[in-house]
Amino acid sequence: MDFQLDEASSQVVAVARRLGREVLAPVAAEYDRSGEFPRAELRVLFEAGLLDPEIPEGLGGVGLPRWLDAMVTEELAWGCAGITLAKTANNLGLTPILVAGTAEQQARLLTPFTESLRFAAFCLTEAGSGSDAAALRTRAEPVAGGYRLNGVKRFITNGGVADLYSVFATLDPAKGAKGVVALAVPGDTPGVHPGKVEHKLGIRASNTTEVVFEDALIPSEFRLGAEGDGFKVALRTLDLSRANIAAHAVGIGRRATDEAVRYAKERRQFGQPIAEHEMVAAMLADSAMEVEAAHLLTIEAAWRADQGLDFSAHASMAKAFASDSAMRAADRAVQILGGYGYMAEYPVEKLFRDAKIYQIFEGTNQIQRLVIARWLAREATA
Ligand SMILES: Cc1cc2nc3c(=O)[nH]c(=O)nc-3n(C[C@H](O)[C@H](O)[C@H](O)COP(=O)(O)OP(=O)(O)OC[C@H]3O[C@@H](n4cnc5c(N)ncnc54)[C@H](O)[C@@H]3O)c2cc1C
Repeated sequence: MDFQLDEASSQVVAVARRLGREVLAPVAAEYDRSGEFPRAELRVLFEAGLLDPEIPEGLGGVGLPRWLDAMVTEELAWGCAGITLAKTANNLGLTPILVAGTAEQQARLLTPFTESLRFAAFCLTEAGSGSDAAALRTRAEPVAGGYRLNGVKRFITNGGVADLYSVFATLDPAKGAKGVVALAVPGDTPGVHPGKVEHKLGIRASNTTEVVFEDALIPSEFRLGAEGDGFKVALRTLDLSRANIAAHAVGIGRRATDEAVRYAKERRQFGQPIAEHEMVAAMLADSAMEVEAAHLLTIEAAWRADQGLDFSAHASMAKAFASDSAMRAADRAVQILGGYGYMAEYPVEKLFRDAKIYQIFEGTNQIQRLVIARWLAREATA
């Protein structure tokens, strides 16, 4: 095992670090205020090959291993997690095609993402189906040559900007998880349109909307995998993307720690920098320790997926631990900046608001703990 990156990987991380610090961080507060979609900055990521780096080289992509993609995401999220989320939502939207698409579907659907700036979205959640993700009501009714799609997906990242949606719908609600089909749905399909735009606590540069399907006709050639396999495709996709979500949280936690350290060295109270007051120093040490542990868990989970090892529980550990640590690090950073930490002029207030979502989406941290506990039970009896 070698923690020293080779030259090529170091360069990839260095580019991501530069983009996070010089392109995303300076505009983060403005997008947070306006809630606009950061298309210009995402174009910069696209041109650097870092918007969809998971697309394999054979399809015209960069084909980064997942562990390196996670390190890229950490650096970008250091600059702005909200902007970086468009990258991770692309990854979520495209992964079902990598997981279940035929070679022909992959070439047809993924190659355009290597040629021009495009966005994808992953449409699983509905009003009545969140953690219980198999309780879908969006219907895919078999018709001649394909499916008629009807329903509303909720809280969809990139929902209002996507050129391509991965949609999970039920053929028969009575069949539960076994009745789900996965469909690739081009954004310009008649009967497909974004619904309500959500106004959020944090990650406000990220676009979150409903996505509405009204008698949309989807040809069979856009079905991903077999009928009834859709739920497995969704779970596999979420497993694969979880380390990337954890990487966002590592980026937020690291930024919060960096901001807190910088401030604590400058701010003087009782005749000395507050960093020299032991209770402040201990808070900084706790954040540094947890963020570093979260980084190692994240990279290990992504690396296990790259190696084809069992990784699902590790990805859940990384996601839950990294997001809980990011929340704690952001909380400590606000505390260390005192009254200034509560003000929008300083970046830690935004980090505090951004961190919260990572404990909720892509499976809440309660659901991650269920996954880990079930894995433990299986391991114990193996
Ligand atoms: C900003 C944002 C972006 C999102 N992006 C997407 C996206 O791109 N695509 C997509 O499909 N979805 C997306 N989601 C949806 C997200 O994944 C869900 O919100 C999340 O999975 C939780 O579902 P829910 O909100 O319905 O909460 P619920 O499932 O109703 O959970 C409510 C509470 O109950 C707890 N709970 C539920 N079941 C259990 C249980 N068995 N044991 C213990 N506790 C339990 C939960 O942990 C939680 O605390 C997004 C959500 C947000 C807020």
